[in-house]
Order: sequence, then structure tokens, then C-alpha cells
Amino acid sequence: MVHVLEHAQSLAGAFELIDEDVRRCSQAFISELRLGLREKTPSMCQIPTFVTQIAGGHEKGISLGVDLGGTNLRVCSVELHGDTTSTVLQSQLPVPPDIMVCDQAARLFSFIANRIEDFLGTYHQSRLDAVANDPGTPPLSLGFTFSFPAYQTALDSGILLRWTKGFDIAGAVNQDVCKLLQMEIDILKLPVKVAALVNDAVGTVMSRAYSLPPSHVRPMVGAIFGTGTNGVYLQALSEVTKPIEGQPEHPDRSMFMSTEWGSFDNKLAVLPVTPYDLELNAFSVNPGDQMFEKRVSGMFLGELLRLAVLDLCSDDQVRLFRNFDTQDLAVAKRWSVDSSIVSVAEADNSTGLSVLSQKISDTLGIPEDYATAEDAQAVKLIAHAIGTRAARLAGMAVGSVILQGRLRENQGANSDTGPGKGGTKVDVAVDGSVVEHYPGFEVHMRNALKALDGIGDEGESKIIIGHTKDGSSVGAAIIALLATRDI
Ligand code: ADP
Repeated sequence: MVHVLEHAQSLAGAFELIDEDVRRCSQAFISELRLGLREKTPSMCQIPTFVTQIAGGHEKGISLGVDLGGTNLRVCSVELHGDTTSTVLQSQLPVPPDIMVCDQAARLFSFIANRIEDFLGTYHQSRLDAVANDPGTPPLSLGFTFSFPAYQTALDSGILLRWTKGFDIAGAVNQDVCKLLQMEIDILKLPVKVAALVNDAVGTVMSRAYSLPPSHVRPMVGAIFGTGTNGVYLQALSEVTKPIEGQPEHPDRSMFMSTEWGSFDNKLAVLPVTPYDLELNAFSVNPGDQMFEKRVSGMFLGELLRLAVLDLCSDDQVRLFRNFDTQDLAVAKRWSVDSSIVSVAEADNSTGLSVLSQKISDTLGIPEDYATAEDAQAVKLIAHAIGTRAARLAGMAVGSVILQGRLRENQGANSDTGPGKGGTKVDVAVDGSVVEHYPGFEVHMRNALKALDGIGDEGESKIIIGHTKDGSSVGAAIIALLATRDI
């Protein structure tokens, strides 16, 4: 008879990512980043964002943000008061499954336009009345946070390359998503102009930048660890040798590049691989794609845990959950387990692990009588291994873009608060449920940063990681405002 915990421990060991692995991954990561600056690549494609300015906190005006992230659609208005403060009004609702997967792009974009109309009716009726009375009233600028790979040719235009995160809508791929949204907005005759297409990572950077005091170093990296994962960083355009359509006006300056790091190492040359990673990938909607994301983001961590726990369940010798027949339970159903269980497991440090046991019952479907404290401990060990690996990979990615952008040396590029402020500090804006809720995510990220050559203990201590909750739509609104107004 094999002891449950021993078995869980050895299973968890498969997820270990030692410092040497982190360094190896980072070297390959930086090579892919550089390749993406030289040519159009299918993996980390380094999409130009056309965002070249960083908010200083003094901007004024009102604009709209719409965020299609994955799970939810958010609509907001942002009024910047010019002193790092703002008034944000926001509404949020889930995207219905029959819209996430459907056969007409117009259904998704008309759904979004209708939610904008609802939002304006609720919060900005006076603006609608003003437009009705004076058609010359300028439209509100809208920043569209669209967190799917879209190749931008200008700030307000982007061609959808492919769907990710469970979306699949025929007819939208290879289309300009700004045009598709504007068309539906115009059908509703709303006084709204789609002025910027923004990915959530760059939106998060801008939201944080506006809210920081002018004396604080400006954020130059944005990273999302939510349903999906992606990172942007400020890159000197002089190193971008591939052609950028709609070439920016100032090639001597810097631009935020969207790394699309979810697809790092799709060939699996350096990323860690467990049997659970392989099975998850084989049964995903995009086998062979988004390999980094499949080890890091919220869409996948629960599924990895489910597969590992199911493996333990299938071993009669282990007697996990007293060999309860799991066949009809959630634990036996693909994609049925939300990643929040990974955070709950990590957070529960009580002696009997009662909160986790309840979660095992609610999420995996194992009746409470069948989940002993030892079983819960086994689940906790596995969750810890999956969460730690995700966070260390996240730290590896953030460290790699800092190194590639030489951000520890090039402080303040394009910032209107001036170069050099803040010494050699680097500010990283992060958002997403995984980084927000998984206990110790930042600590594990930091340990991976310390392991990187070129960062080490000293460099890590100069990296500020700031959580910017729901910042992407606010940031998108700020980018739209910067694009259309003289501020
Ligand atoms: P989005 O990325 O869709 O804008 P979120 O940042 O909230 O939204 O991320 C949602 C993802 O995070 C889902 O995949 C969900 O499984 C995962 N998630 C939600 N809560 C937690 C949690 N407590 N711990 C870890 N992952 C979580």
C-alpha cells in the first residue's frame, strides 16, 4: 500500500521548476522575443501596440473603455481629473456561451454595442440628450480592450489573428475588430468613436501610470495572469527590424510591444512537461498552441489539478478518497474544475483543511465523508506544485522582457515625467485573478526573478510589482483619450 501523501509528493515533484530551468527558459524566451522583433513569427509575434506615450497623471477628460477579456465584458467611463485621480463608472456581465461560440461576428459586436448603449443610458443620459440637441457634440472616444491576438496596423485598427480562451466565432478572424465594433455602434447611432484598440496588458500599464504620483517611476511592463496570460513591455523601436505597417512617426522612440507570450515555446524545447500537460494539450481546442499559457493561466490550472488528482484516484494502491467511484463526478469531466480551487488549497492552512475539503466536495464532487484530511493534504500538495510552477514561469517571463527591453538601464523613455526618475527601478503593472488570488504568486515570481542572470537579488529588489485591479478598461479609455485630445 502506497501512502497517499508520499504518492502525491512524488507526483507534485514532476511540476518542479528549479532555478536552472528558469534560466534556460529565460534564454529561449529572450531569443523568441528577439526573433519576433525581426520577423513575423507564428509564436511570440511581438505585436506593435502603437502606444508610445505613458500617462503622467495630469491628463484631463472623459472617455469610454470596453474590455472583452474572456469571461466577462466590462464597459466603463473614465473621467480624469488631471491630478492622478479619476471617476470610474463601470458595468460588467458575463459573455453568454452562445455568443462566445457562434457563426456570425456581428452577433458578438452587436452584443457589445448594445451593452455600450445600456451603459450610456444608465450613466450618461445627459450626454445622449446633449448629442440629440446638438449633433455637433463630439463623440466620446472609446478604447477597446480586446484580449485576443490581433495584429495592429494603427492604434485604432487591428486584424484578429485567431481566437483563444474558448472563443470561436466564424467570420471574425482576419477582420478589423475596431471596424466591426464601430459598424454596430453606428447602427445604434451612438455618439461613440472607437479610437484605440488596446490589449489588456497595455491597458493595465496605462491605468497604473495615470494613478501613480509624478515622482514615481512610470510602469514599463504590463502582465496579465487571468483567463489567459500576456505581457507587454516598452521596446526601443531602433531594435524592431521587421516592417511595422503604418510606420510610427518617431522611429527613434519606444513603443509597447505585445509579446503574445502565451505561445512561448510552442515546440516544447524548454518548457516543463508532465503527463498532465500533454493530456491537457491534446484535449484542448488548440493543441500545440499557447503552450506557455497552458502552464500559467486561470483557464488551465484547474484542469491540470483535475488531471493530476484523477491520476491519483485511478491508482487502487493509493486509496485517495477511499477509492470512491469518481466516474460520474466533476473530477472525471474535462474542463469542469475552476482554477480557484488551486488558490483555496494554497490558502487553507488550518489543521483539518476544512475549507479545502468543502471546496473538494463542491468542485471535484467528492462527498465530504470520502475526503479525509490526508486526501485534502494530497490535493494541497499538488495545487501548490501547479501554482508555484505557474508563478515561477510568470516571473521568468516578466524578468525576460525586463532584460530584453533593458528597462533597468533605459528609465523613463517617452515618459513626460522625464528620464531617470526613480533610479534603476522598474515598475511592472499586473492584473488578473491568478496573480490576485493565488497566495504567494508574487513571492514565487520574485524568486524566479532572482534566479535570472542579469537581475539577481539586487535587480529583483528594484522591481516594483503593482496590482492594478480591473485596470485594463480604464487604461484603454485613457489611451483613447490621449489619442484624440490635446491634453
Ligand atoms: P479575465 O481574464 O477573463 O478578464 P480574470 O482575471 O478574473 O478575468 O480571470 C478569470 C480566470 O481566473 C478564470 O480562468 C478563473 O478560473 C481564474 N480564477 C478565478 N478565481 C481564481 C482564484 N481564486 N485563483 C486562481 N484562479 C482563479
